Amino acid sequence: MLLEKCLGAQRSRRIQRALRHSKVTILCLVLTVVVLRGTIGAGKFGTPEQDFLEIRDHFYSRKRAEAHRVLEEVHATPSDPNNYNAFDIKKLLVDEGEEEQVDPNKPYTLGPKISNWDELRSKWLRENPNFPNFIGPGKPRVLLVTGSSPKPCENPVGDHYLLKSIKNKIDYCRLHGIEVFYNMALLDAEMAGFWAKLPLIRKLLLSHPEVEFLWWMDSDAMFTDMAFELPWERYKDSNFVMHGWNKTVYDEKSWIGLNTGSFLLRNTQWSLDMLDAWAPMGPKGKIREEAGKVLTKELKGRPVFEADDQSAMVYILATQRQKWGDKVYLESGYYLHGYWGILVDRYEEMIENYRPGLGDHRWPLVTHFVGCKPCGKLADYPVERCLKQMDRAFNFGDNQILQIYGFAHRSLGSRRVKRVRNQKNIPLEVKDELGLLHPAFKAAKVSSS
Ligand code: UDP
Ligand code: MN
Repeated sequence: MLLEKCLGAQRSRRIQRALRHSKVTILCLVLTVVVLRGTIGAGKFGTPEQDFLEIRDHFYSRKRAEAHRVLEEVHATPSDPNNYNAFDIKKLLVDEGEEEQVDPNKPYTLGPKISNWDELRSKWLRENPNFPNFIGPGKPRVLLVTGSSPKPCENPVGDHYLLKSIKNKIDYCRLHGIEVFYNMALLDAEMAGFWAKLPLIRKLLLSHPEVEFLWWMDSDAMFTDMAFELPWERYKDSNFVMHGWNKTVYDEKSWIGLNTGSFLLRNTQWSLDMLDAWAPMGPKGKIREEAGKVLTKELKGRPVFEADDQSAMVYILATQRQKWGDKVYLESGYYLHGYWGILVDRYEEMIENYRPGLGDHRWPLVTHFVGCKPCGKLADYPVERCLKQMDRAFNFGDNQILQIYGFAHRSLGSRRVKRVRNQKNIPLEVKDELGLLHPAFKAAKVSSS
């Protein structure tokens, strides 16, 4: 009222309105600080100073990130240490130490000679009944072994395909009660490349007496039939199972009469002896080069190149059938290995006419991308065809996994998925069409004691 008197009625009303407004403004300011403290989370141990610092950092990094994005859209800045796009992985790839020197006069061996493995292993199995080599009647304990080079692939996309490939193997093995070992170490520098599997396989056989069959599978091979269980009974008298044909190996000596990209090896003395017989052409350099010449000369259709494990195996079997033949099973009844060239363009036709579980030309167990070298430098085929078809093979196999959960890839060429079954209210009543959720071959055999 005093104010009214001093300033006149109109002016006083204006000031009062201004005061009301500033009250609202102050309230808004307080609310803003409260909300900011909440969202930024500065409060807990918050001294005002700490609050200030956190708020400042928050906005600072937001601004940085924004600037970053703009920069990235233009091009990656090589100097920014936080930018993955600009980081050169070669910076980290240092190989310490000297390579072990090898005596060229000493014949190569995979390791100390072992001649009583069958007795040693039987004794171990008797003493360790909790680790039986058969996990069910007629169902051997199997270890699937695969791997890739310790170094990143030549093109980073190769590593993405390695990831797809191991995901695919994990899926098949989970469904079929098979253990998996992925190797990235070069255990023996002499045996680099396709020969690396030999020292690895020997080491694993000797370390895992509980494993009855070791299943080697190349990194460029994928399961395309998730439902097919191997006919174990068929191999009860065999130690070594490869995809191939007796006539083509023993009579024709063709270098592609069998394939060593996917094979089974039983854990026996016989197999250790076979590895010893297989290894001598492997050591890199002069030995491998010279052996390659012998193989090209002796085998049908083999191009000129250094000795490879597959040609060496054909050569051993063709020249020493008496010694090894009766324990080797060359399987052609289904695709333990299937050459991709004759399969990948037929996937749609297979989907149209058949169902998983057949394993053969109607629905191949394995599609193997021989010669595609997705992790290497140079393929024997156009890279685009290789990668496109590897995607199709992956999705073909992956659809059999996704259907369990009611999904499928939109097409064989698509990474995206669609729903193929409506969701039910009672989850456990859902049955997948292929019965892969709880298949009989996965069931645990509990002994009734
Ligand atoms: N491999 C490995 N370590 C290496 C290089 C290759 O374990 O340093 C394995 C990998 O699993 C690969 C296999 O050896 O798939 C055989 O090579 P590749 O498949 O390229 O031969 P291809 O089947 O084309 O004849
Ligand atoms: Mn391969």
